[in-house]
Amino acid sequence: MNPQSAIRNSQYRGRLAPSPTGLLHLGHGRTFWVAQERARANGGTLILRNEDIDSTRFKLEFVPQMIEDLRWFGLEWQEGPDCGGALGPYSQSERRPFYAAALEKLSERGFIYPCTCSRQDIRDAASAPNAGDDEGPIYPGTCRPKEGVKSQVSSVVQSANLTSHDTLHVTRGTRVNWRFRVPDGETVSFVDGNFGVQQFVAGKDFGDFVVWRGDNVPAYQLACVVDDAAMQITEVVRGADLLLSTARQILLYRALGLTPPAFYHCALMLGEKGKRLAKRHDVLSLRTLRQLGETPESLRRF
Ligand SMILES: [Zn+2]
Repeated sequence: MNPQSAIRNSQYRGRLAPSPTGLLHLGHGRTFWVAQERARANGGTLILRNEDIDSTRFKLEFVPQMIEDLRWFGLEWQEGPDCGGALGPYSQSERRPFYAAALEKLSERGFIYPCTCSRQDIRDAASAPNAGDDEGPIYPGTCRPKEGVKSQVSSVVQSANLTSHDTLHVTRGTRVNWRFRVPDGETVSFVDGNFGVQQFVAGKDFGDFVVWRGDNVPAYQLACVVDDAAMQITEVVRGADLLLSTARQILLYRALGLTPPAFYHCALMLGEKGKRLAKRHDVLSLRTLRQLGETPESLRRF
């Protein structure tokens, strides 16, 4: 931990934001442990946010398991879906109105446009390389309107209250992703509490990204920004796989007129052959390690 980057402020608010799409693994546990240590060092509050917005991926039975695993590992939070708090609800599946309001704001301000490209279309059209993370190929701009052309999402959002699966489809049967137009060529920089100055160029390191998916699910980038702002998070501690997403999210904060929190990214734990751990690496799930007789104290030593 770098003490110089710690926020000396009794109002420090950090968060743990696991998604119940599988068993938590040791990498998550260690990142969350750092988040807790930083909150404690600053006399702050830790919030548990259940990132269950993507109902196509998460499983309900993972939620109690997730909470049990976090507790076993020694994590304690003061606000969360299990204990409440002033800035809830703390499960993303109960927060759709917040995301819809942000989407509407982005639309009114001309930051987003509808995109009907399939993944295959993008792969076929993309001449640019992949972004350096999980977002796939850099969007080639096929559906991007000319500068200043606003797309009217607001009436669509309002009329259907975002409940129907057809809500954001331009015509029935056509899936529309809403994309955020990034300012091409602009360098997005931030000082990471762990890695120092980070710089990414919009349009080169990452392209126009989805904020609302064609299956009517708010995308990670939007939900994360909306929640971190609404829950008054002052420092986001998470894995280094999200460094590029931080650059995207800083653009979203700006577009929404919000102040970004501080960021502290943790080095990723690597598995065999230097590959990133994924939730399918059950051997390193906290649950398996516990069953094998490991103690949280030994697992937190790194
Ligand atoms: Zn498109």
